[in-house]
Amino acid sequence: MQAPSYIGRFAPSPSGPLHFGSLIAALGSYLRARSHQGKWLVRIEDIDPPREVPGAADGILRTLESYGLHWDDTVLYQSQRLNDYQEQLNQLLQQNQAYYCQCTRKQIQAMGGLYDGRCGKLVPALDSGAIRVRNHTQTAHFNDVHMGAMSVASDFACEDFIIKRRDGLYAYQLAVVMDDADQGITEVVRGCDLLTSTVRQIDLFKLFDRHVPQWLHLPLLCAEPGRKLSKQNHAPAIDNQAPQASISAALQVLGQPPVDVDDVTIMLKQATEQFQLNLVPRQQEIIL
Ligand code: GLU
Repeated sequence: MQAPSYIGRFAPSPSGPLHFGSLIAALGSYLRARSHQGKWLVRIEDIDPPREVPGAADGILRTLESYGLHWDDTVLYQSQRLNDYQEQLNQLLQQNQAYYCQCTRKQIQAMGGLYDGRCGKLVPALDSGAIRVRNHTQTAHFNDVHMGAMSVASDFACEDFIIKRRDGLYAYQLAVVMDDADQGITEVVRGCDLLTSTVRQIDLFKLFDRHVPQWLHLPLLCAEPGRKLSKQNHAPAIDNQAPQASISAALQVLGQPPVDVDDVTIMLKQATEQFQLNLVPRQQEIIL
């Protein structure tokens, strides 16, 4: 069989059950992949044990199933990839593409909030602490498939950012890029809360000499401007027993024409056939 030319993914963190805000990213990425006859993968981003809620990963998967959002291949758990992340870090350190940093949050605040690279200049170099990448690429702009030309401030773009935290946990930016690269993701579809992370991720794709995917950011549901909808601020609960209502509501948020309320498989099939990216609102936030 020919490899699909489109591979998309949904990559939830198991910090709680799937709520209506995350359903938008799940459904949007699913519809985009299926309307390209592509693959849709699910990856559980469980690299931050203190933020994890026991049972949440399974709960998210069961909810996706009851919504008819069936994924391809097997679910990838980031917690199974720690050796790969460490190997990559060792290589970067060896090649002097990364360095240890012991600066405290307070010191970074005193630098104006963005790290000035000072530990990277120490001779001899430090041999413990957080790990930062030497950011030579300094991506400041990218083209989002839906949102268009995006830019970040140039001092943010230049920062040597953290790829392993001081507490020993692997940073989201490192894990997400290694996984998207190794899973062959061709387009990343997710919420606009991660727009600025994208420039960091492009830096890493380039540093690793891997193919940079396309980026497509969907409007983020917010409780109020700048405050992402979450469990804590009244995200409408989604019901595993009655997925039809939430699917219809999520399609409406995504600007898609309504589908007949039916079995979820039929609803998703109809939504896939009707899917039009240009109907998705172009604003970065939607206040519920
Ligand atoms: N795990 C991240 C989250 O749940 C999403 C990562 C991504 O889509 O790149 O917010």
